[in-house]
Amino acid sequence: MTDNYPSTTEKHLENYLETDKPEEACGVFGIYAPEEDVTKLTYFGLYALQHRGQESAGIATFQDDRVYIHKGMGLVSQVFNESILQQLTGNIGIGHTRYSTTGSSQINNAQPALVETPLGPLAIAHNGNLVNTQDLKKELIDRGCNFNSTTDSEMIALAIATEVKSGKSWLKAAISAFHLCKGAFSLTIGTPEGLMGVRDPHGVRPLVIGTLEDINPKRYVLASETCALDIIGAEYLRDVEPGELVWITEEGMASFHWNQKPQRKLCIFEMIYFARPDSIMEGGSLYSYRLKIGRQLARESLVEADMVIGVPDSGIPAAIGFSQESGIPYAEGLIKNRYVGRTFIQPTQHMRESGIRMKLNPLKDVLEGKRIIMVDDSIVRGNTSKKIVKALRDSGATEVHMRISSPPVTHPCFYGIDTDNQEQLIGATKSVAEIAEQIGVDSLAYLSWEGMLRTTDEDPKTFCSACFTGDYPIPLPDKLKRSKLVLENPVQV
Ligand code: SF4
Repeated sequence: MTDNYPSTTEKHLENYLETDKPEEACGVFGIYAPEEDVTKLTYFGLYALQHRGQESAGIATFQDDRVYIHKGMGLVSQVFNESILQQLTGNIGIGHTRYSTTGSSQINNAQPALVETPLGPLAIAHNGNLVNTQDLKKELIDRGCNFNSTTDSEMIALAIATEVKSGKSWLKAAISAFHLCKGAFSLTIGTPEGLMGVRDPHGVRPLVIGTLEDINPKRYVLASETCALDIIGAEYLRDVEPGELVWITEEGMASFHWNQKPQRKLCIFEMIYFARPDSIMEGGSLYSYRLKIGRQLARESLVEADMVIGVPDSGIPAAIGFSQESGIPYAEGLIKNRYVGRTFIQPTQHMRESGIRMKLNPLKDVLEGKRIIMVDDSIVRGNTSKKIVKALRDSGATEVHMRISSPPVTHPCFYGIDTDNQEQLIGATKSVAEIAEQIGVDSLAYLSWEGMLRTTDEDPKTFCSACFTGDYPIPLPDKLKRSKLVLENPVQV
């Protein structure tokens, strides 16, 4: 989901308070279950997908021809309460948690996006980013559309609406609209007639199908990750395939392969960091994958030390794997304050100087006098790593060796993840030795690109790993490239 607004002051402040990780773009959910309280099930589904976006949340429900919608800024638990949920009635629910990918965090960009069509209302929840928004916008203006938001998600909804207006059914309209869209899109779409789940032909962002247990006839659930199925007691059925549309109605679930040339390119960063470790991807839990990349990292870059620690939360499984492979004991050296959410209140100067301690606190008695290997999943800008290393040394660590369970991030993402411009990526502008010096570690090593992909046990060609290589699987328009790829060969205008 793309915004066209510049960054806001609030956004910079949030970034200060968060770790300098790439940020996920969104979580989506959908359910068709007339016998159930779809609103509450959608709420809990979003609750499980909170890690994918914390800026806004929304739910739309469909009851016959009527749609009910509520969305707001903040966490799912802040946006909804019992009385709001009771007003959202229906047989179909879709939901969304949002992280704005280029800055504009405001209520009219919150999702689901809602548009009217001659067949009734349509609500859409989108995870991913289109790369052809300029062309699509022109096309939609030519078709007489007005925009209520600055998101590409609304553009997809409007594209479907214009196709419906030309006399097509929901399905035909949606498929025609998807052919106008280029980029990454995993969607849940609610209509008065049924629920759609869709993935772009590369399947960059995940989308899974589940079934509600012990209910006859079978009822279906769609979600970005399997953790959102688990929380409502739904059983994982399968993934929506790249280039597939599933249409869920009273008749059951029908599948349409709307794109004849799908070419799977799942975002490898979902596996390394974004998705929850208890979610299943590629047939196994991401916790197991992250353990395995930790083991691989130890095989590639072992160093003598007394203890392995992980940067909470996402660095911990790889740290445990590193410890298992190396035989160096694992311990918790950093404790995360789990109840710190995003805040717009500026910290005091003193707090600012103490840096990361709002979120992470080192355990002095564990660290004192020890040679530490600290495992993290990525370094993006390097600011947070530097603060953590200083905190470890201040707590008495005699050596700090950093190991990263992914290769250096050298290129920005255009498919739905906020990774800054290329010049802000420390891995794009500095060598490993220079980064080690900047963050103040005794040694630094990254996982190899080959090691990262081999450990998936899948064909490496079925993943997008462009932020480590610059090999973008979905072609990018020159203007978009220029917006972030500042270190590439100059693009001819
Ligand atoms: S560029 Fe990186 S973050 Fe973006 S989809 Fe590809 S692997 Fe994922």
